[in-house]
Amino acid sequence: MRTTVGIIGAGPAGLLLARLLHEAGVESVVLESRDRAYVEQRQRAGILEQGTVDVLRAAGAGERMDREGLRHDGIELRFDRTRHRVDLPALTGGSAVTVYAQTEVCKDLIALQLKEGGPLLFGAEALAVEDADGGHPRVRFRHGGREDVLHCDYVVGCDGFWGVARRAVPAALSRVFERTYPYAWLGILADVPPSHDELVYARHDRGFALLSMRSPAVSRLYLQVPEGTDAGAWSDEDVWDELERRLETGDDWRLDRGPVTAKSVTPMRSFVHEPMRYGRLFLAGDAAHIVPPTGAKGLNLAVGDVVTFARALVHERDTGSADLLDAYSETCLRRVWQAERFSYDMTTLLHRAPDATPFDDRVQLARLRRIAGSRAAETDLAEAYTGFPLG
Ligand SMILES: Cc1cc2nc3c(=O)[nH]c(=O)nc-3n(C[C@H](O)[C@H](O)[C@H](O)COP(=O)(O)OP(=O)(O)OC[C@H]3O[C@@H](n4cnc5c(N)ncnc54)[C@H](O)[C@@H]3O)c2cc1C
Repeated sequence: MRTTVGIIGAGPAGLLLARLLHEAGVESVVLESRDRAYVEQRQRAGILEQGTVDVLRAAGAGERMDREGLRHDGIELRFDRTRHRVDLPALTGGSAVTVYAQTEVCKDLIALQLKEGGPLLFGAEALAVEDADGGHPRVRFRHGGREDVLHCDYVVGCDGFWGVARRAVPAALSRVFERTYPYAWLGILADVPPSHDELVYARHDRGFALLSMRSPAVSRLYLQVPEGTDAGAWSDEDVWDELERRLETGDDWRLDRGPVTAKSVTPMRSFVHEPMRYGRLFLAGDAAHIVPPTGAKGLNLAVGDVVTFARALVHERDTGSADLLDAYSETCLRRVWQAERFSYDMTTLLHRAPDATPFDDRVQLARLRRIAGSRAAETDLAEAYTGFPLG
C-alpha cells in the first residue's frame, strides 16, 4: 500500500487529521488497532475549547455538535461550602466551551471518513515505523491476520500514549518530561440530569470532586481517590455519599442521584516527549504529551497538533517551502507547555495531596480566594480554560 500521509490511530487526533487532509485534497490512510465499536464507545473527554469547536465546524464535522452540544458560559469553583462562578465570555472577550463527548466527536468523524474520505482500517495494528529519518518512511502493520507495509511520504503517530510511533525516535534524541500524581480519578456516568447546569470544580478537605455532564440527561462525576484504587471497591452508594460530602454548599443546593452506568479509575500524569518530529515522522496528541484531566486539555491539544501539521503540509505543497513542517515541533510545544502549566495549576489548586499539611491547605484556599477576588487572576484562569490560540 502507498499513500501521502500514513496516520496511526483513529482517536480524535488521527480522525480529525484524516478529515483535514481530505478537505485539502491530500491522500491519507488511517490504521487503527481496535474495532469501530470500541473507538466509538471509549468514555473520555467532554469539554471542547472554542478553537476546537471552530475547527470541527470548518471541517464539516460540526452539524450534530451544533445541535446536541451544550455551550457553557461559565464554570463554578466550590470551596469552603461557598460557590464562585467564573464567567468565561465576560473575561475572555466572548469565548466559551462546549460540552460534547469525545465519543460523539469520534462517531461524527468516523462517519464522515467512511463516507467521503480515504481508507480507515479498523483492526489494523501498526507494529513499527521504519526509515522515519530517510526519504521513504513506512509503517509495518498487521491486518486480518497478515502483515503488510504502508509506504508513505509522511507518517503521523496519533496512536496515543501506549502507541508504537514514539518508539521510532532514537533514545539519544528523545527527552521526556514527566510527573505522576499520588492520586487518581474515580469517574461515574449516571442516567440522571446534571444537578447544576455548568461544571462544578470542588476543593474539599476530603479531596477533589467534579460535577460535569455528557447531555441534559446524563451526568459525569469524578472523585479524587488514592492512586491504585480499584473502581470495584466503591459501591454506587459510597460514590454518591462521597460526592455529596465534597460538593456540599452552605445554601439549598442538592445533588440528584441516578443509576450508575459506568465506573472507572483514571491515573493522573503529566508527560511531554520532545521533539515531536523525527525526520518524516510527526507525533500528535497523546502520543507526544499527556495532561492530567483537571484542565480538560488533552483532546484540545490533539486538535491543535493536527491543525498545525495539516497547515504545514499544505503550505509545503502550495509554496514548496518546508519552513512550517520544520517548525512543527517547536510550534506545537509552545502550546503544549502552556496547557501542561495550566493543567498542573488546576490539579494542585483543587486536589489534596496525601501528605498535605495545614499550611498547604491554607495556601490552596488563598489561591482559590485570589481567583474569586481578583479579576486579573480570574481572567488568567478563564483564558487558559477556553483555550490558547491554535497554530
Ligand atoms: C477520564 C478522562 C477524561 C478526560 N477528559 C478530557 C476533557 O474533558 N477534555 C480534554 O480535552 N481531554 C480529556 N481527556 C484526554 C483525552 O481523552 C485525550 O487527550 C485524547 O483522547 C487524545 O486523543 P488522541 O487521538 O491523541 O489519542 P487516543 O484517543 O488515545 O487515540 C489513539 C488511538 O490509537 C490507537 N492505537 C494505539 N496503538 C496503535 C497501534 N499500534 N496501531 C494502530 N492504532 C493504535 C488506539 O486504539 C486509539 O484509538 C480525558 C482523558 C481521560 C482518560
